[in-house]
Amino acid sequence: MNYFVKNDRGRYAVMPQSLPTVAVAASPQRFPVHRIYCVGRNYVEHTAEDGSHAEREPPLFFMKPADTIVAPGGEVPYPPETADFEHEVELVVAIGRTVYRALPDEAAAAVFGYAVGLDMTRRDLQRQARDLRGPWDLSKSCDYSSPCGDLRPVSRIGHPDKGRIQLRVNGRLRQDSCISHLIWSVPELIHHLSRFQVLLPGDLIYTGTPGGVGPVVAGDTLDASIEGIGSLSVKIV
Ligand code: MN
Repeated sequence: MNYFVKNDRGRYAVMPQSLPTVAVAASPQRFPVHRIYCVGRNYVEHTAEDGSHAEREPPLFFMKPADTIVAPGGEVPYPPETADFEHEVELVVAIGRTVYRALPDEAAAAVFGYAVGLDMTRRDLQRQARDLRGPWDLSKSCDYSSPCGDLRPVSRIGHPDKGRIQLRVNGRLRQDSCISHLIWSVPELIHHLSRFQVLLPGDLIYTGTPGGVGPVVAGDTLDASIEGIGSLSVKIV
């Protein structure tokens, strides 16, 4: 469905793409996705398997296009030009207010809500990019690479800072940690990122993955969950 009104026909040289959105749990409203920020290396276990041992080095941010969002129950086509497409289960933060240069204790007020998400990654291309000191875009930004569960608003669940984060592939537990193990907390991440960039309502932050990342193949079912926040299932096709 296109969100532009009929009168806009003829105004644009080509048809504009529709606005990506995420469902708000127990609400008819949808959250319009503006930008997706992601954090690299934000759990100690993952920095160890990643070989970077980057605990408490400044958080590393990268971005993905908003239209890589996939709704719960959706399909993720196995992308081209990779032989190592991997799952990363993550806590997703939805920004509800404009925020710039916020101190950590002010940052939480900018959060609209939370969800569980997947930062699907062409790991072989990411390794190549690291070796060549090149950008991560093609490894991270492929179509359908950012499945996101329904958002739970802060007005209902507050600011969860503990709770198990898990990912199962075909029922088998592959990632299992706790969001209290985040190296940089949500308010700290907003504090850091908003030094560089005005964060706007509609922005999402994928906060990094715990250990246990691994490859998927077509036919796999991925079940992600964060205790107190929600769950998300997608199928690789
Ligand atoms: Mn990630």
